[in-house]
Amino acid sequence: VRIGNVNGRLMLVEPETNSGVDVATLSHGRFGPDPQSVYAVWDDFREFVASSGWQDQPKRHFTEAELGPPVPAPSQVFAIGLNYRDHVAESGFEIPVSGPVVFTKFPTSITGPYGEVILPTGGHTDWEAELVVVLARRAYQVDASQAWDYVAGLTVGQDLSERLLQMAADPPQFSLGKSFPGFAPTGPWVVSVEEFSDPDDLQLTCEINGEEVQNARTSRMIFPVPELIAQLSSVLPLEAGDLIFTGTPSGTGIGRSPQRWLTKKDQLISRIDGIGHLCQTFG
Ligand code: ZN
Repeated sequence: VRIGNVNGRLMLVEPETNSGVDVATLSHGRFGPDPQSVYAVWDDFREFVASSGWQDQPKRHFTEAELGPPVPAPSQVFAIGLNYRDHVAESGFEIPVSGPVVFTKFPTSITGPYGEVILPTGGHTDWEAELVVVLARRAYQVDASQAWDYVAGLTVGQDLSERLLQMAADPPQFSLGKSFPGFAPTGPWVVSVEEFSDPDDLQLTCEINGEEVQNARTSRMIFPVPELIAQLSSVLPLEAGDLIFTGTPSGTGIGRSPQRWLTKKDQLISRIDGIGHLCQTFG
């Protein structure tokens, strides 16, 4: 199942044709139009979709501009730093041992898969393509062996980062530096877990103006998705519809010599095989 946000309404999506079926209409209101609301009733929704025959319903075409963030209003957005060894090395940090580096992207930074992001004046804005996990139900003190049962699906995310604020000496501001408006593009839709033959091993790439800058497999994570859910949920409950940005591999601008930052007119494409891609331009 692939679900997207088309003009603010939840839609079952057929990516090959950029078309889909409106969930509220299909279900005669049993499931509301708000894309965020479906995660609180995820099991019911999955059962409904399986028996709905939606593929045979008339589909509505949508344009890229109509796609909003598939998970527009999570109660919590977790983000993981330093989760790939080669990115730890390029960033000049030590490999985390006892647990992942956790910060947040404040939810006002969430935007959809396509559009323009305004670069903060005088900043050094960097790119981080990431796999993003969407929670299907409350997860509290969950064992890693059970953790995938708590995941609704996966989507693509960009953890845009203004490095001057993030890495300021006094004090560093990881969460603020990654939460400017538009700094959390997500999408283009959520792909449910069972659609993947191995959700722990996906190809992730990122390119700027056609030049590939990141290319890795998510199986290289230091703390894989189940371990992230176990560690986070050992402290606090994750709620249905929460997001986890799972960290970025090497190839970011801060790790280059010379360092490189996004500039106006750049086109940034972030892609995960089996999900789709994001495309941001900068102004
Ligand atoms: Zn990141």
